[in-house]
Amino acid sequence: MKIFNTLSRQKEEFIPLQEGKVNMYVCGPTVYNLIHIGNARPMIVFDTARRYMEHKGYAVNFVSNFTDVDDKIIKKANEEGVDPSVISERYIQECKKDMEAMNVKEATTHPKATEEIDGMIEMIQTLIDKGYAYVAKDGTVYYKTRSFKEYGKLSHKNLDDLRSGGRSLLVSGEDQKQDALDFVLWKPKKEGEPFWKSPWCDGRPGWHIECSVMSKKYLGDEIDIHAGGEDLIFPHHENEIAQSEAANGKTFAKYWVHNGFLNIDNKKMSKSAGNFFTVRDISEKYDLQVLRFFMLSAHYRSPLNFSADLMEAAKNGLDRIVTSVANLNFLLENAKDGELTAKEQELLDEAKAFITKFDEAMDDDFNTADAVSAIFELVKFTNTNVSEESGKAFVQALKDEIVLLSDICGLIVDKKEEILDTEIEALIQERQDARKAKNFARADEIRDTLAAQGIILEDTREGVKWKRA
Ligand code: AMP
Ligand code: ZN
Repeated sequence: MKIFNTLSRQKEEFIPLQEGKVNMYVCGPTVYNLIHIGNARPMIVFDTARRYMEHKGYAVNFVSNFTDVDDKIIKKANEEGVDPSVISERYIQECKKDMEAMNVKEATTHPKATEEIDGMIEMIQTLIDKGYAYVAKDGTVYYKTRSFKEYGKLSHKNLDDLRSGGRSLLVSGEDQKQDALDFVLWKPKKEGEPFWKSPWCDGRPGWHIECSVMSKKYLGDEIDIHAGGEDLIFPHHENEIAQSEAANGKTFAKYWVHNGFLNIDNKKMSKSAGNFFTVRDISEKYDLQVLRFFMLSAHYRSPLNFSADLMEAAKNGLDRIVTSVANLNFLLENAKDGELTAKEQELLDEAKAFITKFDEAMDDDFNTADAVSAIFELVKFTNTNVSEESGKAFVQALKDEIVLLSDICGLIVDKKEEILDTEIEALIQERQDARKAKNFARADEIRDTLAAQGIILEDTREGVKWKRA
């Protein structure tokens, strides 16, 4: 398997640090609003990379943070007159709902910045002790960028270029910096802001330190893959490297992987220009599986343009796979048992070529665009070769193949098998409403629908509970 590494700007053979294991960290969203479809891109593409690596047999430890202390969160909290934790908790829950609807697997660990302050203080202290950071008069702690000799290795910038543009790096209120390139590790509290005690001043951490600390705590000093959107290469990831490698004395991440940006109608997404969509906006018009399919139809490193036409095309593409599987389910109901015929065996051998094609595409830097084409070819092959005469084993084998490849992409194509928690809960609510309205026929119908999906309802004193059979 080859992965394009931003560090070397080349596709490299993937060799994990420990055989059979992948430790992977993906920078997560700042939770002050509903996530937008740009934020959804890294979630979907790196979830797909994870699923593929799991399919190949790796045990993937996948860590993705929530940045829950930040200027934008504090601003929103002040506007609403609530504690910042109310805002961050609200949008973490909303983000998790969107992730589930996009069939993005839960991370192994989803740490939150505010719960990791002790670790941040510890790492900042180590950086001070080792001479990589200093404390200014007002208690701000800065990272001494020049002290880290390899600074710029990820973004391929050199310090002299950065110095010439250095003036613009000086932000007001940061005039105690020894050098324009230095960045904040810890800053003093301001009126009306959350703060924590530290050896330097009451205050809060800078943004970059949180990922260095959470990655170390949950994955160790050296990890296999660190990922995020390409806007994070500089300065966020460059600063993370400077912090982690200086503090731990080890190479931080072996492979740095970055997704390209999502644009709308060929323009940068921006709120002010009005070309901005949240994932929730899209969910009003489409099943979010369509959004997922749309994202996977391009290579993750390419810029991707979002438009109504492309979403319609994605919807049609996904429908083609879903319809084929539905047809196979229909055929399976009456197909005859028994051994595969020689012809069927021959066709199944032929169909293996599509799996090989799929694997080759994914092995080539997670080329989901080509992987999806392989699924289409398999669907076409299946539609051409199955009929009411086909045996059950044959139809089942082809269906299993389509479902397997789709599942690696996180695409739910067998509607009979998969029903999302949110759909179940909506149906349960509808059933309660039907009962209240004394429409028992509809209530029973919903119970039967859910039962057919393997969902068992239990009426308890605290309300309706459900479980998967
Ligand atoms: P943020 O909350 O801005 O830190 O973003 C969370 C993640 O979404 C980061 O990995 C960003 O790089 C990524 N991201 C933000 N906007 C876009 C976009 N328009 N296209 C692709 N990725 C994006
Ligand atoms: Zn990060």
